[in-house]
Amino acid sequence: MRISFYGVRGSIATAGEATRRYGGNTPCVAVEVAGQQLIFDAGTGIRGLGNDLNRASGAGQVHANLFFSHLHWDHIQGFPFFGPAYVPGNRLDVWHVRTGDDAPFVRNVLSEQMRPPTFPVGLEIMGSELCFHELNPGQVVRVGEAKLRHAAVDHPNGCVAWRVEHEGHAIVYATDLEHDPQVPPPALVELAREADVLIYDAMYTPEEYAGIAGPSRKGWGHGTFEGGAAVAEAAGVRNLCLFHHDPSHDDGFMDALAARARRRLRATSVAREGMVIELGESPGRAHVAAARPTVSIAACAQ
Ligand SMILES: [Zn+2]
Ligand SMILES: [Zn+2]
Repeated sequence: MRISFYGVRGSIATAGEATRRYGGNTPCVAVEVAGQQLIFDAGTGIRGLGNDLNRASGAGQVHANLFFSHLHWDHIQGFPFFGPAYVPGNRLDVWHVRTGDDAPFVRNVLSEQMRPPTFPVGLEIMGSELCFHELNPGQVVRVGEAKLRHAAVDHPNGCVAWRVEHEGHAIVYATDLEHDPQVPPPALVELAREADVLIYDAMYTPEEYAGIAGPSRKGWGHGTFEGGAAVAEAAGVRNLCLFHHDPSHDDGFMDALAARARRRLRATSVAREGMVIELGESPGRAHVAAARPTVSIAACAQ
């Protein structure tokens, strides 16, 4: 498995010199696993990923699987700029969990953001084969040899964390979530059990979260490195990777935050745009999920 970070910033893109080292694009993480291209979220970072996929494919076709954590602006805004979606012959499978009966459909939300007066052309102009999959809570997905499952996390309007497993390795993408920093939520601990990497929303400092520095961020739907460390310890995670950086945290601030987070939990890394994590192929470490209904690509219906 290979994890590539194309967007690590939360809420809004922050171009400019002050955020150059950690990066200013909103969430997009690519995971290559057993010959499959998985993508988590379509923040502004997905534009660069699309360019890389087009380049890597040469004259060949791109087939990618895009998994949404949820449909807030910073996680969908790059979608109209994902180049491979416009190329006939390419195929994009889009996966979304409807966390309730009144939850939106991903196709409608992507379509709404691509129409006048806020965007000049509609979703239908994308020439690739777009295949939308709405999942029920708890449904397991298989893409090739990779297995994906999810868990709901606490965030305004709902959100899910994803786990990818293959040949004894596991990574968890858990962004846009909030919980008591001292109390790891059981469903997330279960999802992250013995994962190699836990990508975790650590948007706020403990002081910001508690309201010691500025207004309290409780109820805003994001976490801290302390909460990430608590989940990582409870789940036996190998490496905690802090993600969804606050737009106001410039590179110098992030350096200090990273050092502090590592004092709390040594096996902590901080996501940066352009960072790549490679996992080897040694078997035997994946947590075996309970049997649940599964969905495969063959179930696709336009
Ligand atoms: Zn977000
Ligand atoms: Zn959100």
